[in-house]
Amino acid sequence: MVKEIPLVWLPAAACTGCSVSLLNTASPTIKNLMVDPVIPGVHINLRFHPTIMAASGDVALGVLEDAVQEPEGGYVLAVDGAIPTGATAGYCNMGERDGQPVTIETRFIELARKALAVLAVGTCASFGGVPAGEPNPSNCVTLKRSLEQHGIDKPLINIPGCPPHPDWFVGTVASILLNGLPSADDLDADLRPKTFYGKLIHENCPRRAFFDEGKFAKKFGEEGCLYELGCKGPITYADCPTRHWNSGTSWVIGAGSPCLGCTQPEFMSLPYYEKVTDVQLPVVGAYWQSKEAE
Ligand code: SF4
Ligand code: SF4
Repeated sequence: MVKEIPLVWLPAAACTGCSVSLLNTASPTIKNLMVDPVIPGVHINLRFHPTIMAASGDVALGVLEDAVQEPEGGYVLAVDGAIPTGATAGYCNMGERDGQPVTIETRFIELARKALAVLAVGTCASFGGVPAGEPNPSNCVTLKRSLEQHGIDKPLINIPGCPPHPDWFVGTVASILLNGLPSADDLDADLRPKTFYGKLIHENCPRRAFFDEGKFAKKFGEEGCLYELGCKGPITYADCPTRHWNSGTSWVIGAGSPCLGCTQPEFMSLPYYEKVTDVQLPVVGAYWQSKEAE
């Protein structure tokens, strides 16, 4: 007997890049993920995902309507994108009821109330990201903030990244299937799984020796550390240097570009190619702690 774990994936204010990244999952492949048991005896039943599901219209939306009628805890809810709350939340809608559009905020709140847990997939869902960037005309909020605004106390795991590595999502789901929901110790202060976000990019960067020697690239393509070219590796938590992207082919710094800090809550306020001037060297790991103390 194979146990089925239902998963509902709700897209909010986002670019669909997080979904595209998930489709690139290499081990397991997306086909394996959808069809086969992820771990022995447990299969993910992806009930709703507008980008890849075959159904459309009322048949597709009926899955959401049915889900909110179920007993609490019957499915895991994954959301990519921030939640628009401005202009009566009407900047992002999905389907209609009685001829009126249903906002994504309404869908999210209804589904979150009944979910076993909520996964915030990507930096927009986790920290606001691009949709919530200044001046934020649609008043987008994070999933955490939206849950708080509606008084919903539900386990929430942030899986940030722009986009997140497919392993970060698949690994988090597999861990839930194997071990249950993560404990507080398994997550960092920003609710990210420490397994994937526990170390600074800078700690494992192959250009670190250049940094320690003070050998900095002055233009792209030069040998040396990319710190002067705006690398946010010293203040960014993720395992990109050891995991690599595109089935292990390479990663951002391996391809000669600075890390942009996409897994950080501060992502949208970090100028892409400008040096972070106030990192206290060499104690770079204490950067965010010193910011909190200010
Ligand atoms: S600053 Fe960036 S390129 Fe330089 S060692 Fe740190 S992570 Fe690597
Ligand atoms: S290297 Fe930096 S910008 Fe690139 S994916 Fe990793 S955390 Fe994001």
